[in-house]
Amino acid sequence: MNTQRLFERFEPAKGTVGDAPLTRRYLADLRGCFRDSRDYEQALTKGNPLVYSVAAVEPATGEGDLHYGLGTIYPGSVGDEYFLTKGHYHTWRMAAEVYIGIAGTGIMLLEEEGTGESRVLPLEENSVVYVPGFTAHRTINTGEIPLVYLGVHPARAGHDYGSIAERNFNTVVVKRDGQPHVERRDRS
Ligand code: ZN
Repeated sequence: MNTQRLFERFEPAKGTVGDAPLTRRYLADLRGCFRDSRDYEQALTKGNPLVYSVAAVEPATGEGDLHYGLGTIYPGSVGDEYFLTKGHYHTWRMAAEVYIGIAGTGIMLLEEEGTGESRVLPLEENSVVYVPGFTAHRTINTGEIPLVYLGVHPARAGHDYGSIAERNFNTVVVKRDGQPHVERRDRS
């Protein structure tokens, strides 16, 4: 048995899990993710804040192994659209994932490949979201504090960012009168 990483502590305030590698996504890394490109470019002229980070723990990479990541999305918005992750499919499309909310308040956006059918689910402390296979998933912070969660998936799942980036999600979540508001993306 590989005895590495059988136990870890994570630090929700820092978004870290032991010394696991941390990927940081800044605003400049998220071109094309937000609905309004003018709002995006405008926001970039004011600074390049950290939008989210993921600490990836990969204890082993065998057929039956699991990987997990601690995700942290910081509060903020581009225009009226909340800070969000790029979103991805799994390269191994049938791979599912479990998201466990640890702190903060947010939303998970699921979009089934082929049908484009969307699901909008809460992600917050004491909640679990099951992401089925063949489903693009994006996480959105709709609160005032960092949204922190764990995602657990098969080791061989892999991340396919490109397929959903080409057309972006069908659904957007914007702030309207101080509350999250779900809208269909305008494709016209
Ligand atoms: Zn995933």
